[in-house]
Parts: sequence; structure tokens; C-alpha cells
Amino acid sequence: MTANTIRFDFRSDTVTRPTEAMRAAMAAAEVGDDVFGDDPTVNLLEQRLAAMTGKEAAIFVPSGTQSNLLALMSHCGRGDEFIAGQNAHCYKFEGGGAAVLGSIQPQPIEHRADGTLDPAAIEAAIKAGDNHFATTRVIALENTYGGRVLPVAWMAEVAEIARRHGLGFHLDGARAFNACVKLGMDIRDFVMPFDTVSICLSKGLGAPVGSVLAGRADLIETARRNRKMLGGGMRQAGILAAGGLYALEHNVARLAEDHRRARALAEGLARHDGLRVTMPDTNILWVDMDRELGERLTPYLAEHGVGITGRYGQQRWVTHLDVDDAAVEGALAAVDAFFRNN
Ligand SMILES: *Cc1c(COP(=O)(O)O)cnc(C)c1O
Repeated sequence: MTANTIRFDFRSDTVTRPTEAMRAAMAAAEVGDDVFGDDPTVNLLEQRLAAMTGKEAAIFVPSGTQSNLLALMSHCGRGDEFIAGQNAHCYKFEGGGAAVLGSIQPQPIEHRADGTLDPAAIEAAIKAGDNHFATTRVIALENTYGGRVLPVAWMAEVAEIARRHGLGFHLDGARAFNACVKLGMDIRDFVMPFDTVSICLSKGLGAPVGSVLAGRADLIETARRNRKMLGGGMRQAGILAAGGLYALEHNVARLAEDHRRARALAEGLARHDGLRVTMPDTNILWVDMDRELGERLTPYLAEHGVGITGRYGQQRWVTHLDVDDAAVEGALAAVDAFFRNN
């Protein structure tokens, strides 16, 4: 299935295209050479995110992957270790970048059924004071995790462990704004316990490119040096940052619409025997089914212009700016037709 044949695109919230208004803001952006610190629009975006998150500083980077890598490299030196979930994006979905480019070893921890990591398991995995071990330097959490909002009290509990052991504390908050909209919580309070937080502008917020890493000034300064080393120093990047500023202004509160549509999809899909739907917290919906059913349903949806991802036994549906109520209805109509005819 190519993008051209997809009418209803639920593959990811990264597929959004900038609106006319966002493009106009980008075209009008004041720019300068950001490697010299001269781009006023990038500077404004960094200041705005730092203020919103209550952190000392922030840095605009090309991707969430680079943002997480920079965070880990700020917390760790060569041969150090980070603790993260077995399915954490920064462990499993970033090409091993921390190990390859940062010489940082991962210590993955199994997730519990609710998506959290057992604080006792985290604490047991912390290593120090023995030459056999890589030295643990940072704990990295992810929230939302697979679209699920993990408890704020749990983050605070892990923060206490990090503090007790003198470790850094990083949040992969690619979709932190989705969590905050769901919780009705200020992002500042949500990310309070963390030394660094990575936020994607190019997911549900609808900007075409970019993430921001916010955190303690010394860590962000190190990240700025490493961003240059990794080839992430961009020049007139204000064109891109303007899309991010526009997104922060216009596309945060409306994430509630994505959450509402994910729920509408969930309710529509749950009407069918054979589809085991997990009610979504935010904009990502997981649907489990027997493999045999998936092997027929997923290609059928592809043939009928409905884009999703996942394995045959588990589908992932993601709502975003570019799917409206009509898209939800259209996709559900295709699913209904499948079950009528099969
Ligand atoms: C998408 C995502 C990233 C990485 O962002 P890219 O811009 O795709 O590199 C990191 N963490 C999580 C949880 C994500 O969903």
C-alpha cells in the first residue's frame, strides 16, 4: 500500500502535513544561522519550550531519536549505562544509537502488564562501585507509552530512586502533550521530576520536522556540542522552528479531538466479535485478534484505502490532525463491510 492509495491514514501521527496557516507561518519566519545562535525563531522556540516545561534550557533538534540520544549522551560517558524499558523507544527503536554512537550500554527492564517498570526491578538493576560493571548513570522513562498514560505517581516514585542513587532522570515525552491533555495537567508539573525531557513536534502536534530536548542548562549545553558532532547543527532552521511554534500555539488543546476519535474508533471496532479492543487513553489504539482473522482483515483494509500498522495479530490505529470524523466513519464502514461479507 502506498500513500497514494490510502484514503484514511491511521498509520501514525507523523503523517500529518502542515496546514496552509502553518506553512504561512514557516514562510514568514525570521531566520539566521542557528549554529551561531543567530536564528531568532529557533531561539524563541527553545525559550518557549523551556518556559512551558519549567526547565532552564532547551535545544531544537531534527528528530526525537536524536533528542533521546543527546539526552543519554549528556547523562552518560563512554562505558556508562542507561536503564530503560524493554520496549522503550530509546532502547528498541533507535537503531541501537546509544550503544553505536554514544558507547552507552542499555540495561532494559521488562514492562509490567500496565506498561510501567517495577521500581524494585529498576533499583535492583542499578550498578556502581564494581569494576565488572558499566556504571549506571540515568533512568529513562517513556510517557505516553504506546499511547497509554502511565501514572504520574509512578514517575515520582522512580524519580525518588534516581535521586537516592545520584542518577540522571530522563523522560522520552515524545507525546507528553497527549498525556497532559488527557490528564488535564500542566506540562510543567508532568515533567517536574525529570532532568531532561524530549518532546516531538512532528507527531500529534502536526509540525513537519523536529523535536525539542529541554532540561538542566549544563546538560543542554553538552547536548548542543554533541548535536553539532552528530551532524544535527542546522542553519536557517527557523523555517522549521516556526512550524513548531505554530503547533504549540494551535495544536495542543485540540489533541483532545484525536483522543475522542480514537475512542470512537475503538467503540466502533469493539462491536465486532473477534476484535479485542483496548480502550485508548490518548490517540493510539491497539486491536488484538486471532492471527487468521488479521491475515484477512489487514489486507482488506489496505485494499479499501485504510492505512494502519501492526502485525497480523495486533493492529495499531493512530488518530491525528489529518483524520477527521468522516475518516473515522469511512474506516469503520470498511470494517463493517468486511464483517458483513466475510
Ligand atoms: C516517534 C518517537 C520517538 C522518535 O522520534 P523521531 O522523530 O521519529 O525520531 C521517540 N520516542 C517515542 C516514544 C516516539 O514515539
